[in-house]
Amino acid sequence: MTSGQQLRLYNSLGRRLEDFTPRGASAGTSEVGLYTCGPTVYSFQHLGNMRPYVFSDTLRRVLRWKGIGARQVVNITDVGHAVADSDTGEDKLEVAAARERRSVEEIAAFYTEDYFDRMAALNVRPADAYPRASEYVPQMVEFAARLSEKGYTYELPSGLYFDTSKSPGYGTLALLDLEGQREGARVEQVEGRRNKSDFALWRAEEPGSRRVMRWESPWGWGAPGWHLECSVMSMALLGEHFDIHTGGIDHRELHHVNEIAQSEAYLEDGQPWVRYWLHNEFILLDSEKIAKSAGHTLRLADLEEAGYHPLAYRLFLLGGHYRSQLDFTTAAMDAAQATLRRLVSRVAPLRPLPSVSTLEEARALVPAGDVPSREGGASREGTAAAEYISRLDAAACSDLATPTILATLQESLRDPAVPEAGLRVVVAAADALLGLRLGDLELREVEGRRSASDLAADEVERIERLVAERTQARKEKNWPRADEIRAELDALGVQLTDTPSGPLWELR
Ligand code: AMP
Ligand code: ZN
Repeated sequence: MTSGQQLRLYNSLGRRLEDFTPRGASAGTSEVGLYTCGPTVYSFQHLGNMRPYVFSDTLRRVLRWKGIGARQVVNITDVGHAVADSDTGEDKLEVAAARERRSVEEIAAFYTEDYFDRMAALNVRPADAYPRASEYVPQMVEFAARLSEKGYTYELPSGLYFDTSKSPGYGTLALLDLEGQREGARVEQVEGRRNKSDFALWRAEEPGSRRVMRWESPWGWGAPGWHLECSVMSMALLGEHFDIHTGGIDHRELHHVNEIAQSEAYLEDGQPWVRYWLHNEFILLDSEKIAKSAGHTLRLADLEEAGYHPLAYRLFLLGGHYRSQLDFTTAAMDAAQATLRRLVSRVAPLRPLPSVSTLEEARALVPAGDVPSREGGASREGTAAAEYISRLDAAACSDLATPTILATLQESLRDPAVPEAGLRVVVAAADALLGLRLGDLELREVEGRRSASDLAADEVERIERLVAERTQARKEKNWPRADEIRAELDALGVQLTDTPSGPLWELR
């Protein structure tokens, strides 16, 4: 039996943990379709923006671990996203082009490239497709035209609107109640709009003004509404129905609500358009959501400049569950960098790690069950690694519990009952899920950004005291205490070397 635990995911649609059953299980196809709302490429992505992609990468890793192949599509929004997520405002790309005195194409190309660079630095595996909204406008026009034919829309001078009162289940994802249903969230006043939650499918040019990015449509020259691209591009690349849709938690309230409304109106087949909706919570800075609109610009490049490894940020993200808010602080980053450094220095002597990406592969390398020892009888060694593999599986299947995966990996590395060959498999298995590049990351890449001379006097005092205490414990042959202190020093990023003239310490 190698299938392990049942994979369970928290579905925002219904707000509960559910067994994950791929559509293909009944349709006879083996790949899961996964759509992730991607970046709006009008400026650099900030630290908070990194989370949805590390999260969806983790989801793919877990699917792979369970032997489930996935086809992932991440859209690049290079047109249609108006400032403040509104229906009538200026396009974010056009505003950026004017600000930076560059063409919208240059803006999009530059920030898309930067996004790809950051993804690579975070060891996020490339998606199977990155469709650009600007390349799908004719299909968006066709989609909107079909909604029009079916009677779901009405036209105003400002564009073509989706009438949400025609959508029976409107707002289910956001738990909008019946009264609130047509109120919608954070939407601006639009002259003539029938319900507050109605949204633009097509944003017509105002008389006398001319957009930079403009297309002709049955509703005049203009540009598509923001929500349209995700419905159109996901269906074009994954089929009309697919398994999983992901994005940041803010999308649960508006963007995804509208995607569902227009897609189900378009399909009209009585089926839910997408079965599983997964959302990551926010990264906070000083108790506030990191947001471009709030002027937050802290990005991965800033962390790298400050001496942190990008994978330390990945580790910081994985140290929290994707559905929990996470406070970004320097102390948390320091701790993440120190943990990564410790992991790499502990794992380096075990290399090369075997190639493992699925539970089945891990189990084949570490047979479960007792292994007969040379002396006869059964040894615990055979089962210890297999137990850790099962625990990794249980954590992964429990709605991607990355903090537990991390803790299990750390525990295995301290456990004397796991023989080296088994430990190699456990580490490779954990890293198949975590993606921290434990198989090849060099220690010098994650070396401390601080040297002893950067330490405050009281930090130095504390380290010196611990070193002296350890020397004393060793003199008294109190090995457990000496080891304990060494571990504590290790946690502080202190490397100890015992020399004939006494212990020397330095920061790693
Ligand atoms: P955008 O490029 O603004 O369209 O945002 C890209 C993704 O980042 C979306 O899925 C957002 O929900 C997500 N996001 C934005 N701010 C944060 C944050 N502070 N923490 C986590 N995710 C965020
Ligand atoms: Zn989207």
